[in-house]
Amino acid sequence: MYDIIIIGAGPAGLTAAIYARRAGKSVLVLEALSYGGQIINTPDIENYPAAAHISGFEFATRIYEQATALGAEIVFEKTEAIRDDGSEKTVVTAEKEYKCKAVIIATGSANRKLGLENEGSLVGRGISYCATCDGAFYKKKTVAVVGGGNTALEDALYLADIAETVYIIHRRDSFRGDEATVSALKERDNVKFIYNSTVTKLNADKRLTGIEVTDKNTGEVSSVMLDGLFVAVGRTPENQSFSDIITLDEGGYIKSGEDCVTNVPGIFAAGDIRAKNIRQLVTAAADGAVAATGAVKYIDTL
Ligand code: NAP
Repeated sequence: MYDIIIIGAGPAGLTAAIYARRAGKSVLVLEALSYGGQIINTPDIENYPAAAHISGFEFATRIYEQATALGAEIVFEKTEAIRDDGSEKTVVTAEKEYKCKAVIIATGSANRKLGLENEGSLVGRGISYCATCDGAFYKKKTVAVVGGGNTALEDALYLADIAETVYIIHRRDSFRGDEATVSALKERDNVKFIYNSTVTKLNADKRLTGIEVTDKNTGEVSSVMLDGLFVAVGRTPENQSFSDIITLDEGGYIKSGEDCVTNVPGIFAAGDIRAKNIRQLVTAAADGAVAATGAVKYIDTL
């Protein structure tokens, strides 16, 4: 029986682990993939206080080491269900069932797909959802990034240092991401912007050879020869393991206020999985602290 089980070892979950351990509670962190969550894909974090430049991987590794040094136990198993029996909760993975007094859900979100034919089979053969993981394969090649948020912009900037040509394809005429990154991209000679357009077809031989792009205003379809396509069109909430007991909003995120409390006493939500306006590293870490403090208080009143 653990005091607290945290589901997800991203910045929110690991921050929660640090706070819960420092409050003297036993902590198990369950993680389906690898620690760090989506921040490991960010090449250079520039907006976290007191860390003007740090790679996402290094940042994640530091929190991981901090949490484990404090005694948080981390097990790499995918959570399949949460059962609530009042003061005792059960977290079910494919391998085992774990019991605890309080749960913090920090599962974050997964890459959204374009939904095009062959998209799945071309992953690793020209299609990628992670520029920092796969960008090095495209040295002096032609690539495109789809999306208009900070991830797409930062991916394009990262790839501009590696690839010969980087197209950035966005379905609107202005970006959702930070103006500073847009300005930096506009200064690069090898970055070409394709606005008001969506990718409507993937052309492939054994691997991706190009794409068809449709202009939303004119309906005109054009072909772009590519070696790689980086998809950065946002994320979808990882809510499958608890959507039967936790109240979600219309987008599938956990309905919870700034106190990170959910509809189930003793189950808290932290980070990107929580319905909120600003999904940033700093707000994920803040949620981790709030959720852990809430969970500790909850346990102490049992
Ligand atoms: P995002 O902000 O949700 O942006 C997703 C982009 O993809 C939007 O421009 C959206 O277009 C577009 N899109 C969505 N579905 C599409 C589709 N089917 N086809 C084509 N385009 C599609 O996602 P994100 O860029 O991954 O960022 C997620 C959060 O993390 C944001 O809050 C972001 O600020 C944050 N983030 C922060 C940093 C940082 O602070 N350094 C770095 C990366 C991400 P519309 O604009 O038309 O909706």
